[in-house]
Amino acid sequence: MVDSKICTVCKIEKSAESFHKNKRAKTGLNPSCKLCVRNAHHRQRESISAKQKEWRQNNRERLLAYDRARDRPPRTDAVRQRERDLRRARDKADPARLEARRSRIREWHRAHPDQAKRNLANWLKRNKGTDKYILQERARNRRATEAISDGYVRRVLSQGAGIPASAVPQSLIEAKRLHIKIMRHIKR
Ligand SMILES: [Zn+2]
Repeated sequence: MVDSKICTVCKIEKSAESFHKNKRAKTGLNPSCKLCVRNAHHRQRESISAKQKEWRQNNRERLLAYDRARDRPPRTDAVRQRERDLRRARDKADPARLEARRSRIREWHRAHPDQAKRNLANWLKRNKGTDKYILQERARNRRATEAISDGYVRRVLSQGAGIPASAVPQSLIEAKRLHIKIMRHIKR
C-alpha cells in the first residue's frame, strides 16, 4: 500500500489514511478520497429524493388510493418522508429489525409471485434510467452473481456461446452452476 496519492476527484494529494481501503485497487486504496466519496453519496441521495418527490407529485391519486385501501388517513409528502427517514434510522440502529422486515417482504413475494412480478415490471418501467434504478440494478446483479442464480448462469452461458438466453436448457444451467462453484472455490 502507498503512503499517499492523488485523489481522482479533487486532484489533491492526500495521505493513505484519507482514503478508504480497497483490496481490488493496485494501490490498495480507493481512487477517490473519503471526503469525495462522502460528497458523492450526499449528491446521489439528494438526486434520489428529488426524483421521489417528483414521482409522488405525479402519482398523488395512486398514493391516496393506497391509503384508502388500507384504511389509513391520507398523509402529506412531508409525513411520508418523515416516516421513511424514521424507518431508515431504526433499521440502521437495529440490524435484526431490518432483517425481520426483509424476511417479511421475501415471504410476501413467495406468497404472491404474480403480483410481485407485476410490481417489479411496473417499478422498472417507472424508474428506468434514474439513479435509484441504476443502484437497484447493481444490487440485483450483485445478489444474482453471489447466489449463482438461474438468471445469472443463463446470461453467462448465452454470452459465452452466443445463443439467446431463452435457448439455454435447464440441464446446462445446473452443470454450469456446479462449474462456477468449483472455480470460485479454487480461487479462494
Ligand atoms: Zn478527493
